[in-house]
Amino acid sequence: MTKSGLLDKFREAREEMVQLLADRGISDERVLAAMLQVERHLFIPIPLRNHAYDDVALPIGEGQTISQPFTVAFMTEALHVQNLDKVLEIGTGSGYQTAILAAMGARVFTIERIPALLKSAKVVLDSMDVRYISKCSDGSIGWKESSPFDGIVVTAGSPAVPKSLVEQLRVGGKLVVPVGPQDFQQMNIITKTNEDNEYSVEEKSDFKFVPLIGRDGWPEHDG
Ligand code: SAM
Repeated sequence: MTKSGLLDKFREAREEMVQLLADRGISDERVLAAMLQVERHLFIPIPLRNHAYDDVALPIGEGQTISQPFTVAFMTEALHVQNLDKVLEIGTGSGYQTAILAAMGARVFTIERIPALLKSAKVVLDSMDVRYISKCSDGSIGWKESSPFDGIVVTAGSPAVPKSLVEQLRVGGKLVVPVGPQDFQQMNIITKTNEDNEYSVEEKSDFKFVPLIGRDGWPEHDG
C-alpha cells in the first residue's frame, strides 16, 4: 500500500508504464516491482504531473530533469542491486532514482551538487519515509569516506569514466555511467575486476543526459 493508499489515482497509469518497460525489455521483476510501487508523480512539478507516467524525461527546475522511466529501469537493472547493498547515486535530482533503489532494499548514499534540488528531493523522500543518506557536493569524485560501494549509478553524462568512482567500488561491484560528448552518451556498465582498479565494460547506446559537472566531469561553464 502506498502512503496515499486508496487515493492513488495514478495507479493505472503506473501499471501501464511498468507494462511498457517490460515490453521494452526490462525483465528484472524486482526492478519492475519497485517502479510499480514508487509514485513517480510525487517527484514531478504539479503542472506536469499528468505526464508523470509517460516514458519521457521531464524538467524539475534548475535546468535539470528527472530521467525517463526506461532509463531509470535500465540503469537499475544493470546495477544488479541486492537487498542491503550499499549503493551510491550521483545526481539526486528529483529523488526518484533514490526511492527506487531504496525500494529494492539498497542502503542508498546520494549526492547532488545543486542545493535547491537536494532540498526539495529531501522533502519528498522524507514524506515517503524513504531511508537514504545524502550530501550536497561534487559527486564526480564520489564519497570516499563511505566507500567501498557494491554499486554506483551516475545519473548525469560524463566525458570519461570517473576514476575515483572505480576506486570506490568493491571488487565485483558495478558502476553504471553514461559516457560521451554532451549531446549523446553510451551507457557504460562496468564491473571492477581487481584491487588494481581494472574493470570490464559493456557499452549500450544511445542515451542523452544532462552533464556531470565537477572535477572528474565537465567544467561548470562548458556548453
Ligand atoms: N537521479 C535523478 C532523478 O531521479 O531525478 C536524475 C537527475 S538529473 C538527470 C542529473 C542530476 O545530476 C542533476 O540534478 C544535476 O544537478 C546532478 N549533477 C550533475 N553533476 C553533478 C555532480 N558532479 N555531483 C552531483 N550531482 C550532479
